[in-house]
Amino acid sequence: MRVHHLNAATLCPASARLVNGRGPWLGRARLVCHVLAIETVRGVVLVDTGLGTGDLAAPARLGPTWVRQVSPRLDPAEPVIAQLPELGLAVADVRAVVLTHLDLDHAGGIADLPAAQIHVHARELAAATSSRGARATLRYRPAHTAHGPRWAPFDDGGETWFGFAGVRALEPREPDLLLVPLPGHTSGHTGVAVRTDAGWLLHAGDSYFFHGQVATPPHAPLALRWFQGRSDVDRAARVANQERVRALVAAHRDEVSVFCAHDPVDFDRLRAGAA
Ligand SMILES: [Zn+2]
Repeated sequence: MRVHHLNAATLCPASARLVNGRGPWLGRARLVCHVLAIETVRGVVLVDTGLGTGDLAAPARLGPTWVRQVSPRLDPAEPVIAQLPELGLAVADVRAVVLTHLDLDHAGGIADLPAAQIHVHARELAAATSSRGARATLRYRPAHTAHGPRWAPFDDGGETWFGFAGVRALEPREPDLLLVPLPGHTSGHTGVAVRTDAGWLLHAGDSYFFHGQVATPPHAPLALRWFQGRSDVDRAARVANQERVRALVAAHRDEVSVFCAHDPVDFDRLRAGAA
């Protein structure tokens, strides 16, 4: 399977030093929204979608608090559907999207792909459609699902993969695309493992935010740790899963290439490797 690494939204919160761990204290940080476009024999499968064209046209729908805090670049070249043509792919080629979770910076692009099946953990879909309160309002934005997505919710499976339990294949005919439960950041948060000719990739979503968190010993800049703690719905589960991902990297870095959604170091490494 051919895999493309795309950045489907650049986020520029305050203080490069506090968020990226390097650069000026007063300069803007750089975070990415790491999306996979996977060419399978039966069409393209996306993992996450970043922000969509509707978000760029009307950023207010993302909510003023989030826009103020993360300062999305809103570059018209970044939505997934703007990047497909240069890969030789059409919007109609995208038959499915797998979302690590439904936070706005992961699900923003699904409105650009109304014909695609949207795979998401059933617990996540329930949380996004039934949760009320300030935090749910911040993370789940009604505009992203107002078109009536073709939901394909999944539950935990019965397989194990490198010690991770509850794993299932995306579809019976897609054994090289695996859904790996990594709850904590949100209730249905899920990693996606993809088997390529060069070994496994694991899109670990927001199970960690900074490449140093899965290094040994783990480390991360202060602002990211603060933001991470604030966005956990189950801190104990997130901490445990982050440790399991770190242990996977420590033991199997030659077999599994692990990356998270927002770390630019992870993204630049994989983008350069795929080029
Ligand atoms: Zn995120």
